[in-house]
Amino acid sequence: MELARLRDTIADDSLAPALDTVLAGAVDALERRRGAGLRRVINATGVVVHTNLGRAPLSEDALAAVIAASGYASVEYDLVTGARGSRTARVGTLAAELCGAEDATAVNNGAAALLLAVAALAGGGEVIVSRGELVEIGGSFRLPEIIAAGGATLVEVGTTNRTRIQDYRSAIGPDTRMILKVHRSNFRLVGFTEEAELSELVTLGVEHDLQVVFDAGSGLIADDAAAGIPGEPEVRTAVASGADLVLFSGDKLLGGPQAGLLVGTRDAVERCRSASLSRALRIDKLQIAALEATLLAHLRTTVPLEIPVIGMLHANLDDLRRRAETLAVALREGMSAGQAPGTTIEAVTLEGVVGGGAAPGISVASYGVRIRGPQATRLAARLREQDPPVVVRIEDDGVLLDVRTIDPSDETSVAEAVLNCLETGTDR
Ligand SMILES: *Cc1c(COP(=O)(O)O)cnc(C)c1O
Repeated sequence: MELARLRDTIADDSLAPALDTVLAGAVDALERRRGAGLRRVINATGVVVHTNLGRAPLSEDALAAVIAASGYASVEYDLVTGARGSRTARVGTLAAELCGAEDATAVNNGAAALLLAVAALAGGGEVIVSRGELVEIGGSFRLPEIIAAGGATLVEVGTTNRTRIQDYRSAIGPDTRMILKVHRSNFRLVGFTEEAELSELVTLGVEHDLQVVFDAGSGLIADDAAAGIPGEPEVRTAVASGADLVLFSGDKLLGGPQAGLLVGTRDAVERCRSASLSRALRIDKLQIAALEATLLAHLRTTVPLEIPVIGMLHANLDDLRRRAETLAVALREGMSAGQAPGTTIEAVTLEGVVGGGAAPGISVASYGVRIRGPQATRLAARLREQDPPVVVRIEDDGVLLDVRTIDPSDETSVAEAVLNCLETGTDR
């Protein structure tokens, strides 16, 4: 690869580089390739649940549980009887207790939870969904396609902006199996809008013997865990309203590993668990380990600040301001004379977002450092080449480092990375 690149260079300006240069280039290329795998990064974007950066960072307890489970572990082995056990029994019990449901289970991710619920509870029948909730969530997760993949027929009701309970009622026929409500987790519908409440759908479902399923998305357990983020549905409230199943992700506001949770009635959960598809969507032992630890933390206290997502969302604004000011000072003082001329570095207030399919359009006040100058875009690219790479936001020609998502133990690395980049940035 490196030789091909060199041949191209020679063909262009017909000057062969020295052997040293060729070797150095080959070593560089090898190192780049080795570094191209999955790497730890510093998230300075302020987006707490950043899907492209792995969503929720695990808590220390969850990490310890993952390490403990990484060898042989009692995944499907009952240590009391010595016989085969259930993979999801324990996380199911914990999730059910946490959400106030009869039963619960877990699969690989939120999309899998929805696919399984549709296949197990409505396969071969019809699923009624509001036209205002036919969402796409990141890449290829499109609701109509998931319903088709689950072997059910989608029946759309209402309009994009308004759907009433009467619309659902009129659509019920002999083949209807499920009413599905989906949280609009990545966009907002404002203005002349109307939607049916989950509790109304539950009443309708009971009247017609239909399964009522709510895809809540973000996994906010109860309001106080979200630091007052408005507009996110609470799983506990949804369960209490009588829905047969409530679905949510493990790695959004719950703050755990990638997982899809299904909580609800004993009957609905058991039908999902025993569906043949569940084997294909099953959760891995490392996910189970981290999920168990995360659920335990939520059961111990309503606002488990030791879970990084929850801790970051609850960060004290004065603390964030102080951290931003300290970082700005460190950067200004760390610059050598004449380094990065025309560059200004200052602590600023920022508007962050929750991210990861939660609280769309809601900004979270935060603090950070803004670096403005002639080389902002190049600075962002160079920060991504650091070890560990630092991922930032660019706004109005400035690089923004939001301290909310930077672990305090990484602040020195961030400062060093920026100074390193500015230094070499000037002579390019
Ligand atoms: C995020 C989300 C999903 C998908 O969950 P994953 O865990 O990313 O697979 C499904 N539905 C809603 C409403 C979501 O917000």
